[in-house]
This record gives sequence, C-alpha cells and structure tokens, in this order.
Amino acid sequence: MKDKFNELNLPVPTRVLYGRDLIDELRTFFPATVRKVTIVIGKGSVRRSGLLDRILTPLQKHDLETTVFEGVEENPSWATCLRGRDHLLRQGAELIIALGGGSVLDAAKAMALAATNTGSLAGMIERRDYLQKPLPTMAIPTTAGTGSEVTQYCIITDEATHDKLNLHTPHSFPWTAILDPVCTLSMPRTITIGTGMDALSHAVEGYLSRRASSESDQLALESIETIGKFLEASIREPHNLELRENMLLAASKAGAVISQTGTILLHALGYRLTLDHGVHHGLANAVLLYPFLLVTQRYQPQKVQGILDALLGTHSTLEALKGYLMRLGIKPDIGRCGVKAGEFEAIARYVLAKKNLPDTPFPVTSGDIFEILTLAMN
Ligand code: NAP
Ligand code: FE
Repeated sequence: MKDKFNELNLPVPTRVLYGRDLIDELRTFFPATVRKVTIVIGKGSVRRSGLLDRILTPLQKHDLETTVFEGVEENPSWATCLRGRDHLLRQGAELIIALGGGSVLDAAKAMALAATNTGSLAGMIERRDYLQKPLPTMAIPTTAGTGSEVTQYCIITDEATHDKLNLHTPHSFPWTAILDPVCTLSMPRTITIGTGMDALSHAVEGYLSRRASSESDQLALESIETIGKFLEASIREPHNLELRENMLLAASKAGAVISQTGTILLHALGYRLTLDHGVHHGLANAVLLYPFLLVTQRYQPQKVQGILDALLGTHSTLEALKGYLMRLGIKPDIGRCGVKAGEFEAIARYVLAKKNLPDTPFPVTSGDIFEILTLAMN
C-alpha cells in the first residue's frame, strides 16, 4: 500500500494524497471509529463511469453504513445544500465523501457546514468566523480544475439574488483530498478543457492578486507550467493516467494558491456568463482570459510576462496565448455565448460591487470592464 500513494504538501490544512487506484483503499484513510458515511454525487456521471460502485463495494465490505445523496446540479443551489443537510442529519453521518466535480465538492462542504449550524446562506456568510466546525469531508475530485478539494470555499448559487456567493470559514477546508487520476478519465473533452482553464485562471489570478506572496507565486507558476505541459496532451490522450494525474496536481496547487489569495476581476466577470448564459465556469473565464491579460499587461507587464513564459515558454506573447486558446477551441468571443453589448452596463455594475475586485492589481474602472468585454466580442 505504502508505495501506491504519495502525499502532496500544500499550505492548506487538508491532507492531500495522490496516486492511481487510491479510491479502492479509502477505508485506510479514515478513523476506525467512523461507521456512517454519506457519499455526495452529482447528476449521474459517477454511476455511469462505475466509480460510485467501485467506492461503495469495499466500504460495504468493511460493514460501514453508507448512503448516497445524489443529484447535485452544476453551480449548486442553496436549496440542494439544505436537502443534503437533511439527508446527513437523518443518517447521522459521521463523514462525507464528496465524489464529483467542483459543484459536488462545494455543495458537500456547504452541507457539512449546514449540518452543524443554522441560518440562511447570507446569514452564515455574515457569521462565518463564528460558525461551528463542519462535519469532516473527504473530497475526491472527478474534474481537474476547481481545486475545491483544497480550498475553504463553497461557491453556492443563491436563488434569491441570482448570484454565486462564497461561503467559507477557517474550518471549511476538506479534511482529506484524494487525487486519483482514475476518477478524471471519463471527463469529456469540453469538461477537460473547461476545468483545465479554471485551474489556469486560478493560478493566473492568484499570481496577479494583491494578496500574492512569494510562496503562492511559486505554486502558481508551477501550476501554470504544468498546465502548459499537460493540458493539450491530456486532450489528445484522454486515457493517459500520467497526464491526468499531472492535471490534478496542477489544479490542486492552483486551489492552494487561491485559498490564500482569492480570485480577482476575471472570476467576477466570468460569473455573469455562467449565471446569465449558462456557460461552464471554467470556459467563462477562458473566453475572457486574453482580453483580461491584455488590459492587465498595462499595469503589471512583468507579471503578465511571467505567466506567458510559464505557460508557453520564454518570451511568449499575448498573441501566442490567443493561438494556444484557439488550439483548445476557445475563441475570445462572448457574442457566441449569447452576450449582447446592451448587457455591459449591468455586468460592470455587478463586477464593481463584487468582493473579488479589490485584490485586482489595478484600480478597476467601468471603462476597463467595457474594454475587456468589447475586446471579447470579436
Ligand atoms: P461541475 O459543475 O462539477 O461539473 C460539470 C459537468 O461535468 C457535470 O455535468 C458533471 O456531471 C460532469 N462531470 C464531472 N466529472 C466528470 C467525469 N469524471 N466524467 C464525466 N462527466 C463529469 O464542474 P466543475 O468545473 O468541476 O465545477 C464548477 C463549479 O465549481 C462551479 O460552481 C464553480 O463556481 C465552482 N468552483 C469552486 C471553487 C472553489 O474553490 N471551491 C473554485 C472554482 C470553481 P455529473 O453531475 O453527472 O457528475
Ligand atoms: Fe474557478
């Protein structure tokens, strides 16, 4: 067993284990006293790929009481988190295993908090530093992108305000993360690209953030470099475990970066494309990445150059980035996502009020936002 897994040391409280077929050994990684486990999953991809059975069978052999909470949707709602909380409380769950993409991981982390605290989503966000510790969560990502397995963030859609809100506390990091490339093999091409782009935008925004440190910068550059080396290859060879493992490591490193720095302007802009036009979260960031860096370059030329060099090789240009994105099928064209110029005013108002904004490394004006959106219309 010992040589089958490795431990990744990241500056987060989560224990991060990685290796192939780790999901067959999950019982080894939690205390013998745990008897009741709830597995949280999405809309069915892990049933279809056989991952759910692969996890359940050995747990049941150990006589654990297991239940499944199924149906977490993309960009999960607070209503889903409350249904999950009720499920956990009914079962008396002692441990949650979150098996899915960022939506499942975020929802499971929010359910874990809702099981030990009361109040609305907005109320819990307001009281976040005083909330009780959540139930422990073991996070097993099936996408390589959000890094949610190593962040404190639960990005939950608030139906009341039609907004993506960030619930987090100092204790809402997953207890353990299991990075097993077997889990990401079934990702379709578009999800591989979209989630890879999410990881890239985390590393890029974390590197640019006013809250960046030398420690987070080093991790961010490592992550960007790994994505540059392995994302295109993992699209060409989707069944290659080594490529998939490298992308998982890059995503978790980028997650550890944003756990310290947060995200900035690019994520705030992307949220509107997801909320109003249903664009996948990572792809929303990707279509805006080129114009975002074009504007940022005026204020932070060295940092932008550092990003381009790490991703594409020394002395790379923004034009080369455009070519890279095009090779991945990403055109900087938000018109194709359904955005109309008439929406820019409302997007700018939204973005200027968003909490991600102050850490952007320049004083963002509505003129900057219009410029990015206009560049992204072509
Ligand atoms: P996702 O919304 O979790 O999943 C997207 C789609 O991919 C779903 O249809 C899902 O199907 C499918 N899928 C996932 N894994 C698959 C696999 N291995 N094989 C086949 N299909 C698979 O996508 P995501 O990009 O990972 O997560 C996005 C969410 O994370 C957003 O809500 C975003 O705001 C949030 N996020 C959180 C953080 C954080 O720090 N907490 C950071 C960035 C983004 P099923 O539903 O059937 O499983
Ligand atoms: Fe993200």
